[in-house]
Amino acid sequence: MIVIVKKSTPPAAVEALTCKLRDFGVDVHISQGSVHTVLGLVGDTSKLDIDQLKIFECVEDVKRIQEPYKNANRKFHPLDTSIPVGKHFIGGGSLTVIAGPCSVESEEQIIGVAENVKASGAKLLRGGAFKPRTSPYAFQGMREEGIKLLLKAKQVTKLPIVTEIMDISQLDLFDEVDVIQVGARNMQNFELLKQLGHTDKPILLKRGLANTYQELLMSAEYIMASGNENVILCERGIRTFETYTRNTLDISAVPVLKKLSHLPVIVDPSHAVGMVEFIPQLSLASLAAGADGLMIEVHNNPANAKCDGLQSLTPEQFDQLMKRAAKLSAAII
Ligand code: PEP
Ligand code: MN
Repeated sequence: MIVIVKKSTPPAAVEALTCKLRDFGVDVHISQGSVHTVLGLVGDTSKLDIDQLKIFECVEDVKRIQEPYKNANRKFHPLDTSIPVGKHFIGGGSLTVIAGPCSVESEEQIIGVAENVKASGAKLLRGGAFKPRTSPYAFQGMREEGIKLLLKAKQVTKLPIVTEIMDISQLDLFDEVDVIQVGARNMQNFELLKQLGHTDKPILLKRGLANTYQELLMSAEYIMASGNENVILCERGIRTFETYTRNTLDISAVPVLKKLSHLPVIVDPSHAVGMVEFIPQLSLASLAAGADGLMIEVHNNPANAKCDGLQSLTPEQFDQLMKRAAKLSAAII
């Protein structure tokens, strides 16, 4: 349920109304827009009578929210959410490019790539330490050692780091990680999502291979309902009948998710298409569709990468893409 407060209502009256609403046993989220203040009510609103709420002098309108996701719903929070990460903000009009290798492989590799992508304008460094691999015989990541190397790269370059958590037992290792990634395969690991909701770290939540927009938003809701509102949604391609590309980039996800939710939406074209050749076009298409950013795999030696070499740009290819992305962003603003 949302309560729209009349224009120019003094803050004290909004505060008094909020207290009354809390007395009804619901949680109230205040969203201060440029014109209207919107109060989002979460919890059991079934016993609240819309007409009874409309009696309050400062209430302009009261509406029930049909969608099962509340905190993530744009109706609750009409303005775009912008999430601070270091000195940078993700969402809310700024463009965020996250780049780095699929997996951390060595100190030389991660620091080298970090320096390269930073010079090209990336705002965050990615790198997998815990790797969800289809085969148990494939490289599983450097695990704890991988996180230590990411932290070294962060120290050298000052780039905030993004890395994937696969199990809540790993959380202690993520103390100095800036953004925790929940991978496609874990999008519906609800226990993990609930626990991450108890942290205050930004969570980069990737869409599952076969999940709907509503399922993605419900997963974001799990994190938010546990108290962590810092969720970034990521479209990374879904499984369709097409087999030429690794997955199918669902470009519609960008404008649709941005309409349904106030959360930032970024696109990972690397895992979507799986081939270096098409990553620049899909990156530009994603920005044109309104994405708040991109997550791109970059490797100093793709031919010898331990994971996802076929979809990893070289630092030079990434640099060229960043120049084109900057021109496009300037044109579409
Ligand atoms: C990744 O970003 O390294 C990754 C494993 O992605 P996804 O979960 O989208 O497959
Ligand atoms: Mn990868």
